[in-house]
Amino acid sequence: MSTTEESAKLFADASSVIPGGVNSPVRAFNSVGGTPRFITSAKGCRLTDVDGNQYVDLVCSWGPMILGHAHPAVVEAVQRVAAHGLSFGAPTPSESELAREIIDRVAPVERVRLVNSGTEATMSAIRLARGFTGRAKIVKFSGCYHGHSDALLADAGSGVATLGLPSSPGVTGAAAADTLVLPYNNVAAVEEIFAQFGDEIACVITEASPGNMGTVPPLPGFNAALRRITAAHGALLIVDEVMTGFRVSRSGWYGLDPVDADLFTFGKVMSGGLPAAAFGGTAEVMGRLAPLGPVYQAGTLSGNPVAMAAGLATLRAADDAAYAKLDANADRLVGLIGDALTEAGVTHQIPRAGNMFSVFFGGDPVTDFASAKATETWRFPAFFHALLDAGIYPPPSAYEAWFVSTALDDEAFDQIADALPGAARAAAQAAA
Ligand SMILES: *Cc1c(COP(=O)(O)O)cnc(C)c1O
Repeated sequence: MSTTEESAKLFADASSVIPGGVNSPVRAFNSVGGTPRFITSAKGCRLTDVDGNQYVDLVCSWGPMILGHAHPAVVEAVQRVAAHGLSFGAPTPSESELAREIIDRVAPVERVRLVNSGTEATMSAIRLARGFTGRAKIVKFSGCYHGHSDALLADAGSGVATLGLPSSPGVTGAAAADTLVLPYNNVAAVEEIFAQFGDEIACVITEASPGNMGTVPPLPGFNAALRRITAAHGALLIVDEVMTGFRVSRSGWYGLDPVDADLFTFGKVMSGGLPAAAFGGTAEVMGRLAPLGPVYQAGTLSGNPVAMAAGLATLRAADDAAYAKLDANADRLVGLIGDALTEAGVTHQIPRAGNMFSVFFGGDPVTDFASAKATETWRFPAFFHALLDAGIYPPPSAYEAWFVSTALDDEAFDQIADALPGAARAAAQAAA
């Protein structure tokens, strides 16, 4: 059992100045309980907290740190660029370099606009789709997360034709009403909504492969069906690759399942751990953005040179060998987890999307948010805390993806292998 005295003190202190003590809710450990660890440094695959505990990191800042923490090439690039000034509010050469890295990797993307967060990327892509088509309604899928802009914080209402309901106070009924929410992986539901509202729908937005209800990959042909249906009705397809982009392959999910969307959104890996994100698409659609066109979009710190440097250094270091290593590390980790759970007699499934995966307890196949919620998520806190106590840091929620880095080493895998049997027994003994 590790000491968490200093983390507990800092959490109490943080809670007196920051709502809930955190700047993004999942960090508060609400769904697993216990004290969030205050991290003071990280190197390679390991995090160090304020009490001096070390953890093998299986979250990787929710995806970005594919090369591990404080990678020498990335740190060097950031330090070099920072010494020459932090922000200019004027164009700078590295913005086009990063845009070109993205364009070279994802074939349908001809133009890229850089922003500061994934939330901004999807929000701007939705505005552009509405501006381009002159239509108001958008379609999203239940369990897919696209950041926290109003139009995308909508839940499915009851009934089949699911008009969106606000999923947070502060989102108006009007903002949510133009968002139609459908069950994921259900082509018939998409066909039906287009039969009903086809000429009012500006776009369908989908996670390239969902990772925010846990890892729930698209069934074969699902993304292609979205392409076919949207095209038939003059609506745009927005594929959100904020999580999968440049993580699951050099070209993101597009490299594994090449569906030509009109717009793509990126974040996380592309900025190497600093705040930057992007959206991109065909020259025709992107040409409607200000200053070329009438759809307004802007950002004081957009294209920030230090963030560009971190992103460029990360993408350039992420070569074929790095992606092979990420896949091999995911295979090895999933193998260890599966063996330990089987040994302890815990029914489970570990859906994969390239090198991303999640651990669901229970046997009914997970294909959408409803089936994810029907799993035995109550086993997860015990599993999580047994791993954390043994110095392994998994995502603190059953509905999140696990992320590997290239930096996981044999020592880390030995530590994981030693910790898993106890964690699997804890999952087995958990009570509903
Ligand atoms: C993380 C994420 C976002 C939001 O990105 P932020 O940078 O947190 O605003 C949007 N879409 C997907 C698929 C994500 O995983």
